[in-house]
Amino acid sequence: MSDCIFCAIVAGTAPAQIIDSDERTIAFLDINPATPGHTLVIPRRHHTDLLEIDDVDLAACTSAARRLALRIEDRLDAEGFNLINACRPVAWQTVFHFHIHLIPRYSDDALKLPWVPRAGDPAEIARVADLLGDPAAADGE
Ligand code: 5GP
Ligand code: ZN
Repeated sequence: MSDCIFCAIVAGTAPAQIIDSDERTIAFLDINPATPGHTLVIPRRHHTDLLEIDDVDLAACTSAARRLALRIEDRLDAEGFNLINACRPVAWQTVFHFHIHLIPRYSDDALKLPWVPRAGDPAEIARVADLLGDPAAADGE
């Protein structure tokens, strides 16, 4: 897509600190890193978001993220990782070319869980499960 910054990075017409690539993906450092080594893994082909990307490119991005997590653990001494995908503006997506944030975690970093875990109402959880469950599948519980 002509007005997509990540397509421009793939094409080499916009600068980026590219740290990994394969036939389907490239990975580069985020310009606003949440922690050292914050990486964006993207498909070379333009897909808008999680609901639009095909399974093959999605799998390639996931595999690349794991490959890079192993490298970042080794080279930056990361102690853990968060993989985050923002799908659509309501979920904080700001660049509309699918990407996985690979965020290395360090015991002294400042990141916080973006929600407060609270016990849910079991009846409400069951109601939602009824809406979402596959009637053809065996009962989960
Ligand atoms: P989103 O908000 O869509 O989940 O993530 C977009 C990410 O892309 C943000 O973390 C932002 O810092 C990063 N970003 C936006 N423009 C550029 C750019 O031109 N180069 C790089 N390396 N990262 C970018
Ligand atoms: Zn694009």
